[in-house]
Amino acid sequence: MSSTLYVYNSYTGQKEKFEALTPPFVGLYVCGPTVYSDVHLGNCRTFLTFDLLYRYLRFLGYKVRYVRNITDAGHLENDADEGEDKIAKKARLEKLEPMEIVQRYTVGFRNVMRLLNALPPSIEPTATGHIVEQIEMVKQILATGLAYEVNGSVYFDVEKYHEKYKNYGKLSGRIVEELIAGAGNEKRTLEGQDEKRNPADFAIWKKASPNHIMRWVSPWGEGFPGWHLECSVMSTKYLGEEFDIHGGGMDLKFPHHEAEIAQNNACCSKGGARYWMHGNMLTVNGKRMGKSEGNAFLPEQLFAGDHPLLEQPYSPMTVRFFMLQAHYRSTLDFTNAGLQAAEKGYKRLMSALNLLPGLKSGNSSDFDWDAFRADVLAAMDDDLNSPVALAHIFEAVKRINSVHEQKEQISAAHLEMIQQWLPDFVQNVFGLLNEEEQQGNEQARLLDSAMQLIIDLRAEARLRKDFGTSDLIRDRLIGSGIQLKDGKEGTTWEKND
Ligand code: AMP
Ligand code: ZN
Repeated sequence: MSSTLYVYNSYTGQKEKFEALTPPFVGLYVCGPTVYSDVHLGNCRTFLTFDLLYRYLRFLGYKVRYVRNITDAGHLENDADEGEDKIAKKARLEKLEPMEIVQRYTVGFRNVMRLLNALPPSIEPTATGHIVEQIEMVKQILATGLAYEVNGSVYFDVEKYHEKYKNYGKLSGRIVEELIAGAGNEKRTLEGQDEKRNPADFAIWKKASPNHIMRWVSPWGEGFPGWHLECSVMSTKYLGEEFDIHGGGMDLKFPHHEAEIAQNNACCSKGGARYWMHGNMLTVNGKRMGKSEGNAFLPEQLFAGDHPLLEQPYSPMTVRFFMLQAHYRSTLDFTNAGLQAAEKGYKRLMSALNLLPGLKSGNSSDFDWDAFRADVLAAMDDDLNSPVALAHIFEAVKRINSVHEQKEQISAAHLEMIQQWLPDFVQNVFGLLNEEEQQGNEQARLLDSAMQLIIDLRAEARLRKDFGTSDLIRDRLIGSGIQLKDGKEGTTWEKND
């Protein structure tokens, strides 16, 4: 299977031709959420970016195993090696079990992703479900001499690692000598510092203090895994020591992904992912949307229009469209004007798709539909350039409207091709569903289930020989425009003309 796709590899800083390790299979790992609070729209952007990648790889014919983890332990406050576990802290504040917190926000995350029509990953492993494997990896790294144990905690020895592999800092562009000297670690508190041989070192296993509730027995005493370790462990377990693509938000490059690469190299014969892809941030007035920034809003607030920053509600498909209008490596600033334009664009696209089945073909085409399709695919092949692909699609929308208004022609062959290809691409690669149609389907489903209930109640009345009630039901339904039909197979219903 020869690839036409080029992706920007953050590890080499270059756009590279994507070659799968063992085509047609592709292993994709994406860092999932830490489930201690609701996901905000910024988080969603990153997950939608990788949904687009997953969908496009499948569209190209690859068989993708998409692993996206759930971080349910080990992620400490401030992303550092000290402080409380984010989940345990929330559990303490709300007087709940940590696993209640995990359950609540995992379910919430999945619901939001479903509303946004993101495909579920093939595997969604959790950190707490892989403690045994994490302890195993700590042992392996210790055995190589690239980690050391102090007082029940195990730290990764960055200086020693870098001496051997010469690649610590390559992904994030950090200068390892500065890290070793302590730069970039200003936020760190002094607690635990003395245990480290070097400020650049990071914990792969932490001793649990007496009041730390999420704890497991290990060869080094009771403790918990370091945050970066779970991703090395779970990607290796499900995708192998070397796999195709690792993704995540830009802000995870350091320390999280830098540490992952080091752990993978230290424990295994290979360094993990061959291509690293990073999505850029969603911003509000130029500032990264984040829980700590106080400018985050939830997708549910957006769908309901329930936030002071929102002038109106925006539907999930409008949000998806809005995200597609920016390239994933550019920042995207949230504005009402931007979302309103996205809403208009989305509706215009859906109207054109609705016109497609009814278009009449002519003798020839006034537009090169084959070139159009090639242009859309070329844009996607160019590191998922969705805004350029959308621009081509809008040229096609204009042409579809012209054919509909009989201002131009389309040949039968082109019409057949585009009737099949365009809705398929919009639905399966862009993940854009027709919300009006969906709402119609939902109403039909509701009506059908209510009618089934009425039919069952009427059948029961007849069994009781309560013909007064059964006739009343039939007559009242006729009054509402619904005709019941009694047949051998039971009763069916249809609308009166
Ligand atoms: P977290 O739950 O904090 O680990 O974040 C989950 C994912 O959301 C990570 O891949 C982050 O990089 C990503 N993320 C966080 N804030 C933003 C933002 N404002 N825009 C885009 N992605 C974000
Ligand atoms: Zn991760």
